[in-house]
Amino acid sequence: MKTLTCDVCKHPIVQPINNRNYFHLGHRDLCEPCHDELQLLIKPTVRTKSPFNYEWYSKLVQEAIEKAIQKSKF
Ligand SMILES: [Zn+2]
Repeated sequence: MKTLTCDVCKHPIVQPINNRNYFHLGHRDLCEPCHDELQLLIKPTVRTKSPFNYEWYSKLVQEAIEKAIQKSKF
């Protein structure tokens, strides 16, 4: 059985299933609660971006994750 560790909160993710209870973004692994926090955090910024640009979006996500890792939370 595979167990992953969330890169942000350091909690183990038991029986990880990608895009269900864990999210692999860039080279980071996020548990579901942290992924929810990430979405809440970036949503207001994403809403103001027009036209939407995927490259810009992945950069925004990566930066938010790296900042969260330093604080161990979003
Ligand atoms: Zn987490």
